[in-house]
Amino acid sequence: MAQNRRLNDPQTLTGQSIVDDLGVTPLINAGGPNTKHSGSRPRLEAIEAMEAMSEVFVDMDELLLAAGERIAEITGNEAATITSGASGGLVVQAAAAMAKDDPERITQLPITDGMPSELIIQRGHRFVYDHLYLAPGSSFVEVGRPTDSTIEEIEQAIGPNTAALIHLESPYKETFGVPLPELAELAHAHGLPVLADCASMLPPRENLSKYTAQGADLVSFSGGKAVRGPQSTGFLIGKPEWVEFARLNNAPNPGVTRAQKVSKEEIAGLLAALEAFVSVDEEAETKHYRDQMNFIIDQITEIPGITAEIQHNYDHYIPHAVVTFGNDWRGPDYSEITARLKAGSPRIYAAFDYRPNPNHMWIDPLNLQDGEVEIVAEQLRKILIEAASGG
Ligand SMILES: *Cc1c(COP(=O)(O)O)cnc(C)c1O
Repeated sequence: MAQNRRLNDPQTLTGQSIVDDLGVTPLINAGGPNTKHSGSRPRLEAIEAMEAMSEVFVDMDELLLAAGERIAEITGNEAATITSGASGGLVVQAAAAMAKDDPERITQLPITDGMPSELIIQRGHRFVYDHLYLAPGSSFVEVGRPTDSTIEEIEQAIGPNTAALIHLESPYKETFGVPLPELAELAHAHGLPVLADCASMLPPRENLSKYTAQGADLVSFSGGKAVRGPQSTGFLIGKPEWVEFARLNNAPNPGVTRAQKVSKEEIAGLLAALEAFVSVDEEAETKHYRDQMNFIIDQITEIPGITAEIQHNYDHYIPHAVVTFGNDWRGPDYSEITARLKAGSPRIYAAFDYRPNPNHMWIDPLNLQDGEVEIVAEQLRKILIEAASGG
């Protein structure tokens, strides 16, 4: 047994040796920074900063305050703080909206007696992760329909128990609903904050300051998606007052978010990743991804029944190779194709649409390592050709 244990041997330690030792088969991640498929590859700068940060001890409040200031500076915002993923940021947002800087309220949550605890959300902004908003004891007041909602409906829902208005920016949300600037104007007229979930809206890097400029008081971003910081990190940016409320409601302080602590190493890793992220030439990066995706499209474009094209828009944060299955497609649907990719050798994870009755899937180049785009193109081509002929 003992001779199989290689996790402590620096001579032979590699990612492959770790998964071999554990009996886990790795995969090629061609589906983007999905948490269930292990997120994104942390930048080298982040890994190095984490290791270096392990050498020192600090007062965590001081570190979090200083790191927040640095993130504000890097991202062009007034204030910022660090969270345990964008999901952790949603919990902190809701806690901040209810308890603000009141120490008794902060420790009382998730019991919300005596404080406004309702979060108004447009039905078209409901999302698989939005339950995190409810974790500190808050509840939703839903307005509008899945396909639309109006500013009047939101205004009518505001009452003495309202703590905040929620706004989502995410690919495939069902409706754009009320534009953020109008929502923010309404919220501020009632002395309420707008809490925005913009977790995956990077790149483009300009979004780092876009939603705060449009009036959101707290915006939650992932640090473990395309920023490529530690997978468990996120950050909140916004108005100094609300960012301070968020920090006071966040770990390491005792309270409902105590289970969401972020280590000093992860904090340093996120800072290093963000600095690197903002200094990348986005045009060159985009061209690189586009070239990779064109390579894949060239391999599959002739296959009958599908269209293969690059999409780079609100729904696709970097250029993706999107495969759409047409009415004349004779093979199995997207879920079977992606399952076959994942069952293959090597295993490949590809992304697909969350909306009902999806008819497409795509390749996301964010996590492709050297040499992998060729493998993905070949496997995808093979599986699609087999499937197209009824295989
Ligand atoms: C990814 C995502 C989250 C979760 O972010 P984590 O950093 O993984 O916690 C929350 N909301 C939306 C809209 C997302 O896309």
